[in-house]
Amino acid sequence: MYNLHPGRSIVVAMAAEDANALRRALEKNEIIPYFQPLVELRTGLLSGFEVLARWLHPNRGLITPNEFIPLAEDAGLNGLLTGNLLRAVFTAAKDIPEHLTLSVNISLTQLTDFSLPKHIRAAAEQASFPLNRLILEITESALVGNTEQAYRIATELKEQGSRLALDDFGTGYSSLRHLQSLPFDELKIDASFVRSMGHTRESRKIAAAIVGLGNSLSLTTVAEGIESQTTADMLLWLGCDLGQGWLYGRPVPPEQLPEVLAARLDPVPPVPEPRSPVADSTLPLRLEALPTQRLAQLNAIYDGVPVGLCFVDRNLRYVSVNKRLAGMHHLPVAAHLGRYISEVMPSVFPLCEPYLLRALNGQASNDLEICYPDPNPLNEKRTHLISFHPARDEADEVIGVSVSVVDITRRKQAEQALAESEDHYRHTVELNPQVPWTADPQGMILDASQRWESLTGLSVPDSLGTGWIRALHPDDVKSTSRIWTESLRTGRPLDVQYRIHRVDGTWRWMRARATARRGKDGKIIRWYGTVEDINDQRSAEEALRRSEARLKAVFDAVPVGIVIAEAPDGRVVMSNPRAEEILRSTETAPAMIDDYCRESISFTPGPNTKSTRNIDQDQDHPLANAIMGGKSIGPTEYLRFHSDGSSAWISLTGAPVLDPDGKVSGGVVAIQDIDEDKREMQRLSDLNTVLKIKLETHQ
Ligand code: C2E
Ligand code: MG
Ligand code: MG
Repeated sequence: MYNLHPGRSIVVAMAAEDANALRRALEKNEIIPYFQPLVELRTGLLSGFEVLARWLHPNRGLITPNEFIPLAEDAGLNGLLTGNLLRAVFTAAKDIPEHLTLSVNISLTQLTDFSLPKHIRAAAEQASFPLNRLILEITESALVGNTEQAYRIATELKEQGSRLALDDFGTGYSSLRHLQSLPFDELKIDASFVRSMGHTRESRKIAAAIVGLGNSLSLTTVAEGIESQTTADMLLWLGCDLGQGWLYGRPVPPEQLPEVLAARLDPVPPVPEPRSPVADSTLPLRLEALPTQRLAQLNAIYDGVPVGLCFVDRNLRYVSVNKRLAGMHHLPVAAHLGRYISEVMPSVFPLCEPYLLRALNGQASNDLEICYPDPNPLNEKRTHLISFHPARDEADEVIGVSVSVVDITRRKQAEQALAESEDHYRHTVELNPQVPWTADPQGMILDASQRWESLTGLSVPDSLGTGWIRALHPDDVKSTSRIWTESLRTGRPLDVQYRIHRVDGTWRWMRARATARRGKDGKIIRWYGTVEDINDQRSAEEALRRSEARLKAVFDAVPVGIVIAEAPDGRVVMSNPRAEEILRSTETAPAMIDDYCRESISFTPGPNTKSTRNIDQDQDHPLANAIMGGKSIGPTEYLRFHSDGSSAWISLTGAPVLDPDGKVSGGVVAIQDIDEDKREMQRLSDLNTVLKIKLETHQ
């Protein structure tokens, strides 16, 4: 027999030797399981262990699986190896809490062995290990062969309750096809991508894509080979579920399991460094790369801003949530992390979903107003404004959505109040006959109420600037301009009257008034003014003036003296020339009606007066008191003494003037010169007396 491949025969010979050694090793239980922790990235809590085979060689020391697994494959010892390993694993599992899973690697040849599920089941049953805690990791290379067979075996393994993980994803030739062909539950991102994530953007993008793919297929994503926190943070940011690597622990022999479990299950809280910014942080990212101070600031901002903030990944799961938002949701921060918005906020999610999807497509929006449900129905309904911003990685890819929520209840209330008050204002303005307007410091009209248009027919836009002048009566333009210019120059309030042309063709008198508003520096910044229709007022004033003139003419012409006094004390406000003549008045200052009539000398009622009772002689101002008290007086005759010693008879008639409401607003005193008559009468009387005496003496 000749050997065509002498080199190969040496390899075969060596392999045969090693295979024997391996077989012996298996018999002597030199192949033992090592356990490497699998950790939930979000919480850092232990989720299970991956079982990694080790050959404890008596001479060569610890041999890694990469060296002996291919040998076992070639020698058909894999079944035996896995069987031995599983027994040891299930024995060790007695010390492992029930909620933790165990992942075991299955090799290529084993997936062609229809007895595999049975063997696994037998070993598990013997150790009373529930198969739903078992995850079987299948590398892509194991799937290259007969996929039909592999499918049947994998399905049976799943039916027994175990889960399947696709190991070393991304390294094989047809990863995606395998993903589709077998009913996997987990996707393990190969360590080669994970380890280089910190160095190349490509690896980051591949890792992101694999996580995204896993998430979109509802698979648990596991990252292998995590050696640094930075990588862990990036993976968490991408939405990866589990992590495995030296950062969390190297593979350990069974005897070291209790130690690992103690450390991982009941993790000693990290000794808080003085003023440690991360101690009580709700930020899942531990950005060690940042200077401590900046991180502290970031954390403080994140939790302290009066705005609800969160970051959701591409699958719309909460990656981080600040305390404010958690408060708005009436839920603890922890109730959000890692969960879908749809499950945390089911009633709000349908409203947000279109915005979130838009943000994932790179489009920001900030106009969603919603009311979060409040568990307490008595609480005031609160309105929130939500903004959605796409968050991009350094490659400008959208990796999630940054959401901010602002409580705008107060603003809403203010807006409402403002709308109401504006409405109120508008109504007031509409009802107000005045036309409000504003002008700039140069007198250019900036705005005027619509009323101006309805009054003048000149539109508001046409009236701005100096356009309003066109509505003025040509005769009033000059005077109005002059007065306005004067106000603008001096800053003194404007008060001007002019006529405007009405829509109905008539001219109406208007009164424009304005005051200046000044800035802090004292300079005028605005003129605020009004225009009001004073036509009726002016007509009334004119009518009044006319009737006043008529009255005045009568007042001046009557042969009776008239003195007008006003309430409340009876001070003289007016007297006609006749009164002044009779009373020989020289009074210039306003006097009390009594003093006015008395002149400077007191006057006493004459002996023949008809009525003196109306006037109380003891009072200083009997006339005023009587009239202001609402009484009419007289006619009463008085002999009035003048300062030159002469005297004259007068007759006074007083009457109160009443308001329409009956109140005394003043009084009128009519004065008649009765001196002639009186003296004539006196003479007659004297004559009578003389005649009488003469008659008596004759008798
Ligand atoms: P694997 O299933 O992908 O296991 C992960 C490998 O990465 C392990 O190597 C582990 O020790 C290593 N590893 C874990 N974390 C880190 C890390 O942070 N940095 C680095 N540099 N490496 C890390 P290990 O134990 O040498 O196993 C190699 C491969 O051998 C395994 O890859 C698995 O495919 C295979 N294997 C291990 N045990 C068994 C077994 O019992 N049966 C079969 N069929 N294959 C096994
Ligand atoms: Mg593995
Ligand atoms: Mg792997």
